Amino acid sequence: MNNGQKRFPRAVVLFGPPGSGKGTQAKLLIERTGFPQISTGDMLREHIHAGDEIGREVAALMHAGSLVPDDLVNSLVKQRLSRPDCRNGFILDGYPRTQQQAERLGALLEGWGIDQVVIHLVVDYNMIIARLTGRRQCPVCGTLYNALSRPPNQPEVCDLDGARLVIREDDSELVIRERLEEYDRQTRPVLDYFSRAGRRLYEVDASREAPPVLCERIFELIENGG
Ligand code: AMP
Repeated sequence: MNNGQKRFPRAVVLFGPPGSGKGTQAKLLIERTGFPQISTGDMLREHIHAGDEIGREVAALMHAGSLVPDDLVNSLVKQRLSRPDCRNGFILDGYPRTQQQAERLGALLEGWGIDQVVIHLVVDYNMIIARLTGRRQCPVCGTLYNALSRPPNQPEVCDLDGARLVIREDDSELVIRERLEEYDRQTRPVLDYFSRAGRRLYEVDASREAPPVLCERIFELIENGG
């Protein structure tokens, strides 16, 4: 019973180009909402590390900065969202990325009676290239660092477990440019689809504020609207 109050949306879609901070905001929003982060990029990388059939199918596409087939991601997401930890809600990071994916997600959520809200993180592409080429990740605990905005205490070493930090293979400048082109071609147009479909869609400037400040603003939008 919600006594006529607006319902808190259970599907939060973080939308934006690679390097716009979707992963960082998803991690902060986990604490705020208690929802799990569903990152299709992380799920696909796990398959690559496992060396299984899906991993072999997507490795070359991902390393080249291209999108992987819609049917494959759609089915991974559907399986993941069916797990019990998603019952109260979830944060989608990097999905949907094409109109076909957005349509599939819309149908799935409608069938389950789940409201969705889309947060569009807007960042200038030059800033994205600077951010991504400086990005490092701990291969052990997954913590993200950035030479510009969040350097580790000791260069190239994880503050938490001392592991040597790594650069993701698709964070080289050439591949980043390809990923941005792919975003322009296939993903950005999904915003028009969201508008036509009447989704709650909010744009936030993700280039200025510190991540925790931005997270509060996003939480406020999710909860109360703009
Ligand atoms: P990300 O970590 O979200 O930047 O994703 C890394 C890569 O995984 C992308 O460049 C794509 O190759 C692939 N990928 C992740 N999510 C999707 C998706 N929703 N649709 C197609 N490809 C995806």
